Amino acid sequence: MTENKFPGKDISEEDLKTKFPLVAKKNKNHKSKFNVSGVEFGGSLIPIFAGPNMVESEELIKDTAISVKKSGAHFLRGGAFKPLSFPYRGPKYTETREQGIKWLKNAKEISGIPIITEVMEEKFIDLVSDVADIIQIGSRNMQNYPFLTSVAKTGKPIMLKRHYGASLRDWLGAAEYILVEGNEKVILCERGVSAPHTHRSTSRFLLDLQVVPAAQELTHLPVVVDPSHATFWRPWVSSMALASVASGADGIMLEVHPDPINASVDPLQPIDFQEFESLCKSMNSVANTLGRNIL
Ligand code: PEP
Ligand code: MN
Repeated sequence: MTENKFPGKDISEEDLKTKFPLVAKKNKNHKSKFNVSGVEFGGSLIPIFAGPNMVESEELIKDTAISVKKSGAHFLRGGAFKPLSFPYRGPKYTETREQGIKWLKNAKEISGIPIITEVMEEKFIDLVSDVADIIQIGSRNMQNYPFLTSVAKTGKPIMLKRHYGASLRDWLGAAEYILVEGNEKVILCERGVSAPHTHRSTSRFLLDLQVVPAAQELTHLPVVVDPSHATFWRPWVSSMALASVASGADGIMLEVHPDPINASVDPLQPIDFQEFESLCKSMNSVANTLGRNIL
């Protein structure tokens, strides 16, 4: 009879020593603490990353930067380079690419909020590193190992989003590729997984909140949750964000847009400025009951 003992299932005690020794906790209370552009990770603060799916225009990103910062966000999110699911799209969906990176830089200068943005291709790593306080590696690139190595070598803090089909073992293995390059500022981000019953438009992914305590049992790295990509559905985002804080998440990523239904990409998922402002207050209340804080 197999016993249900730590660490359990597909991760063995041996894996922690030989497969991802750098990602694994050295003892029960081991938790990485680091600072990114003045924001503490791994402590009592639960940093918030907020902004549109895509950096659509200079004005949109500037207005969003100012608004989300005022409401309590610690980082402005938004992709200039986007992993869009289909190659055919109207002009509205065209990525803003290099121009979007310039607009992010501008927004940061004007508002003073640090930036997290995605890089998808090796040839743009330098360009993106120049503006990003945290480089985002998207779900779709989680297991692109040579790419992980190249991004790790920038020395920049990295957020590694979990692929929607990846086990915890796969995810921690991918994080080890970054740490082994000597880059220790790694943030994990759960953003929903695929399951048979998620194959409908209002439930594109299943938010795996159990992975938060599961990952924290094994790794010292901060674990962030992105309920926007998981739910794909605005009416569910706030309650799942609160649940994410309650699950023990070390940060929350949210899609926020001034005019959600007219967002260029994934218009069903962003919340507006007003909802974000009140959500920050309620997330802070939940955080407070756990001895943590957002605001
Ligand atoms: C994003 O955060 O913009 C994004 C594309 O997320 P994911 O890689 O999780 O799909
Ligand atoms: Mn997206």
